[in-house]
Amino acid sequence: MRVLLALGGNAMTAADGRARPEDQVAAARIAADAVAGLLARDVDVVITHGNGPQVGNLLVKNELAASVVPPVPLDWCGAQTQGTLGFVLTTALDAALAARGVDRRTAAVVTRTVVAADDPGFTDPTKPIGRYLPAEEAALLADHGQIWSDRGERGWRRMVASPEPREIVDGPAIRALVDAGFVVVAGGGGGIPVVRAADGALSGVEAVIDKDLAAAVLARTVHADVLVVATDVPHAVLRYGTPSAEPLGVVGVEKVRAHAAEGHFAGGSMGPKIDAACRFVEQGGLRAVITDLEHLAGIGHDPASGTGDHGTVIVPT
Ligand code: ADP
Ligand code: MG
Repeated sequence: MRVLLALGGNAMTAADGRARPEDQVAAARIAADAVAGLLARDVDVVITHGNGPQVGNLLVKNELAASVVPPVPLDWCGAQTQGTLGFVLTTALDAALAARGVDRRTAAVVTRTVVAADDPGFTDPTKPIGRYLPAEEAALLADHGQIWSDRGERGWRRMVASPEPREIVDGPAIRALVDAGFVVVAGGGGGIPVVRAADGALSGVEAVIDKDLAAAVLARTVHADVLVVATDVPHAVLRYGTPSAEPLGVVGVEKVRAHAAEGHFAGGSMGPKIDAACRFVEQGGLRAVITDLEHLAGIGHDPASGTGDHGTVIVPT
């Protein structure tokens, strides 16, 4: 059994969203404890993670320090957060494994994800990033070529492309590591976005990739049986937040697509998780699970064989 586990924001920051280094280390410890239960059962695991708050912090540093040290582009921010979070997560995993007496090695891979240079996101950027700024400060950055948009009362925000992930450049290296028994942390923040020129050369681009959609591509690349999207709710829910809310259990992918078309899953949060889960199953994956860290222990088990609550489990129809 091979699992691709995508950790959401809550696995990397405190419940209230604080992201001091100690908050991130504490959150990673909790996540690693939950994952170690799987690892003790001899399941192959590749872990990917979000990086929104961490990139947000780097962007603030870029802005404030721009007159002293040169600002770095978004692809560099992605690479830097993969490095830091890879270190934090592998260290937390090593401790959780040692505490259980499980003899497995961990590794983190700086991961590039190919996007198309002509992705519509580049002409019409849809993803707001970083902090809100007043109009005058936004105008200054817009003069430097950035796209800023008026978001109403809270101020202006930078907009960037969120292109489709096409291919995980470092997929073969990740697969070799997991084949060799390593627990691998890879593809953080959806991967560093790169485009491929006609001569094959890669170069980084200013964009952010949805980490759940990239996780689906990475899952297929490493031949995962199960894609697990771990977030802060135990289930995807129909009529979410209403008195008639209905959590989804084991459900066929066609039915999930129909629910999505009816607008049950919010864009920018549950929507991309559902899309990623459906894509993985539609492309031949065994099943995809959306749940919280508390429900991870049930992941390796066949949902049809037991009656336990394993979160939302999307299966082929
Ligand atoms: P992460 O940071 O873990 O990647 P997000 O915060 O982006 O996750 O998305 C998870 C959130 O999606 C939940 O906390 C919940 O508030 C929200 N959400 C929106 N629609 C739904 C739904 N239909 N069912 C469950 N949660 C939903
Ligand atoms: Mg989030």
